[in-house]
Amino acid sequence: MERSLIIIKPDAVQRGLVGEITKRFENKGLKLVGCKMMQLDDAILKEHYAHLIDKPFFPGISSFMQSTPVIVQCWEGYEAVESMRIIVGITKARGADAGTVRGDLAMSFQCNVVHASDSSENAEIEVKRFFKEGEIFEYNKTDFEHVYAGDEK
Ligand code: ADP
Repeated sequence: MERSLIIIKPDAVQRGLVGEITKRFENKGLKLVGCKMMQLDDAILKEHYAHLIDKPFFPGISSFMQSTPVIVQCWEGYEAVESMRIIVGITKARGADAGTVRGDLAMSFQCNVVHASDSSENAEIEVKRFFKEGEIFEYNKTDFEHVYAGDEK
């Protein structure tokens, strides 16, 4: 099973969309294995958005992401990273497909309600970045029996 990191961003916290966004991943059949509220700081955002640090909009993202605490979640599922990127939709929310989280719930490039890991390798790094040992849980999710077929479990 693959893991992916989700950050429910400050715009979603302010707009009361935490439950709605979480519900979409639950409905899909993904398994929540880590969840906490966290106040991000400059250091973790420089690491997390290292690929954007030279962009003119980086200071804006950094202050936006620190404007309220965020919800960080770790989800598990078969090929979960790809599946969750599809559910989330493209970065520019006003152009995201209807039916996706960003397509249905957001209008902005920056304020696009959620972060989702973009590759399996990055997901592993990001889960370690945001969760300490002991904060990711192992348990038997009984509905996997019905969510997956034999070799996908
Ligand atoms: P994604 O979050 O879809 O993986 P990126 O890693 O490229 O996209 O960007 C990280 C975050 O930075 C985006 O989710 C968005 O909040 C912000 N961002 C990216 N590009 C822009 C932009 N051109 N203008 C404003 N904010 C941006």
